[in-house]
Amino acid sequence: MAEFDLIARIRARATTRADVALGIGDDAALLQPPPGEQLAVTADTLNDGVHFPHEAVPAGIGWKSLAVNLSDLAAMGARPLWCTLSLSLPAADEDFVDAFLDGFLALAAQHQVALVGGDITRGPLSIAVTAIGSVPAGQALRRDAAVAGDDIWVTGTPGDAGGALGLWRDGRLDVTCEDDRGDEGFLRRRMARPEPRVAMGLALRGVAHACVDLSDGLLPDLGHVCARSGTGARLHLDDLPASPALARLYPEATARARWQLLGGDDYELCLTAAAGCRDAVAAAARAAGVQASRIGRVVEGEGVEVVDAQGRPWPVPGRGFEHFA
Ligand code: ADP
Ligand code: MG
Repeated sequence: MAEFDLIARIRARATTRADVALGIGDDAALLQPPPGEQLAVTADTLNDGVHFPHEAVPAGIGWKSLAVNLSDLAAMGARPLWCTLSLSLPAADEDFVDAFLDGFLALAAQHQVALVGGDITRGPLSIAVTAIGSVPAGQALRRDAAVAGDDIWVTGTPGDAGGALGLWRDGRLDVTCEDDRGDEGFLRRRMARPEPRVAMGLALRGVAHACVDLSDGLLPDLGHVCARSGTGARLHLDDLPASPALARLYPEATARARWQLLGGDDYELCLTAAAGCRDAVAAAARAAGVQASRIGRVVEGEGVEVVDAQGRPWPVPGRGFEHFA
């Protein structure tokens, strides 16, 4: 019965929307897509000890498990509508589920996303979320749409989440609390509670060419755009925006650049747009309340090259995170 008690708890708190004809409680949900729009569907799994530290705060785990999925929708320029939540739990721990939902549902409410179904099984702690959004046909921001000559832009300050991970691995960051004061607190929040750039994704419809969200790291994720678009990219090291917290905690330039280029889990957007759209990208960022920085150019060829202020190639130390590397 424990499984059904937990489902009842989730159902009692789940957010809904008018386009949910039938939500949690039947064999499947019935959803009414916006007329004339395409559905954008994405799934991401978070595993204990792989995607979050075992001792991470449950509300933060809940927040992040939805955030990473909404970030994928943002990168497509899709408006988030619905989600499902499949939980694998070591035990029927009501306190964990309640705290997890505090984070998960807070973010869902912020973006008017309805939780419409899911599953609960026993096993190692693992959270699988599917998020569904919509976008007018033909307006999605795809990875394969970069054009040589495009500017490359990034939102926010990449490297913060990786910098937090580095501090935690060195035993210098406590992830059992959510205090966001000070430089450590700022980075902790950037790692534990990423803000999916949904408003920016929507504002970039009709402005950006290609777009990707930063989960693996700026270089590998931009590399995916280049591979799909059949282009190369040149990034200007000195134009990478660093948060003041990252700059203070990693004063050594190479260590900082490593997090900015290869650190994962930032959930910022990296996009390309025609040089004639600079004002439009800046206006989109203003409307969305995010920082946007121009960090390089799409070029003919293949691969991502990083250059220093003098235009000389900068050797990148290492690679991004790969699960089976
Ligand atoms: P079934 O055996 O038909 O898959 P379940 O007993 O697993 O049904 O689930 C019953 C209902 O509760 C379904 O509507 C399902 O989508 C919903 N549900 C189960 N687990 C969750 C969850 N973790 N979050 C949201 N809804 C859930
Ligand atoms: Mg089921």
